[in-house]
Amino acid sequence: MTGLNRRHLLTGTAAIGAAAALAPLWPTRATAAVPAAGAQAPGFYRYKVGSFECTSINDGVATFPMPDAFVTNVSKTEALAAAQAAYMPDGMVRVPFNPQLINTGSKLVLIDAGNGAAAFEPSKGAVGRTLQNLAAAGVDPKTIDAVVISHLHPDHTNGIRAADGSLAFPNAEIMVPAKDWEFWMSDANAAKAESNPMLKGYFANVRKVYAGIESKVTRYDWGKEVAPGITAVAAPGHTPGHTAFAVASGASKVLLQSDVTNIPEFFLRNPDWHVVFDIDPDMAQATRHKFYDMAAAEKATVVGFHFSFPSIGHVEKDGAGYRLVPVTWTPVL
Ligand SMILES: [Zn+2]
Repeated sequence: MTGLNRRHLLTGTAAIGAAAALAPLWPTRATAAVPAAGAQAPGFYRYKVGSFECTSINDGVATFPMPDAFVTNVSKTEALAAAQAAYMPDGMVRVPFNPQLINTGSKLVLIDAGNGAAAFEPSKGAVGRTLQNLAAAGVDPKTIDAVVISHLHPDHTNGIRAADGSLAFPNAEIMVPAKDWEFWMSDANAAKAESNPMLKGYFANVRKVYAGIESKVTRYDWGKEVAPGITAVAAPGHTPGHTAFAVASGASKVLLQSDVTNIPEFFLRNPDWHVVFDIDPDMAQATRHKFYDMAAAEKATVVGFHFSFPSIGHVEKDGAGYRLVPVTWTPVL
């Protein structure tokens, strides 16, 4: 690239000014101003894994003031510096949410369901966009055969319900990790969490979302296929049953990491940082290293629920941490 510097930029601006001054025949006829669109484009992005057609579906992005203990084992100053280094709005954290739709050819499977359509209005459209973006991608929710939940946190599971509380995917088998179900549905665990408002809310949320459909939910185990070509991979720590997925077709494979990290700008760069949402932070940290060491060694494509849309990239080792190299948006499958 030629040396574009501040002097060139200033000269350029001056040159545009001079050109305008020297253009007496500049259109003088009144032209209608084009109104601003005022809204973002739909968030869906297709990619292939062998013969499978996958679609990253954006549920939205939450932006909120950084809580005091968002990262529990470093100072808030250090965490804020990471947010600033990632160009997040001053003092804020930005967390995207991206469920994945997989068309295996014989089954249409949605992995995680987002924050739920009921969250759309209260968040002023920031989150709860999964159904809208599925519609934009031409997907009828009735055609989805299975909704596979990676873990029972609200941002992953609440989307099984439509805004009116009915089932958003009426014909889908709902599949949850057996270990997470056991943990969150235990009254003894819920009682122990009474003093922690965040955990108390999570326990209450799981009970509310699954009320009346408890017996219809399929509980899956690690190491087994949840659908042809989609294998549940143990990734505990974030929650006891937190699950990643290997999606494989032919010679191709991608890893859906779910919440092995929350936002990569913090926890992939600093894999030993603990996000407030981790139930067992030390185990989550060990899982993170194991998972990313494997992904880096295999040069695997990694999809992260909390990566920036379309949430697909490669993970490389970078000093004591890792870095994410996002894929290039490609117009042809
Ligand atoms: Zn999450």
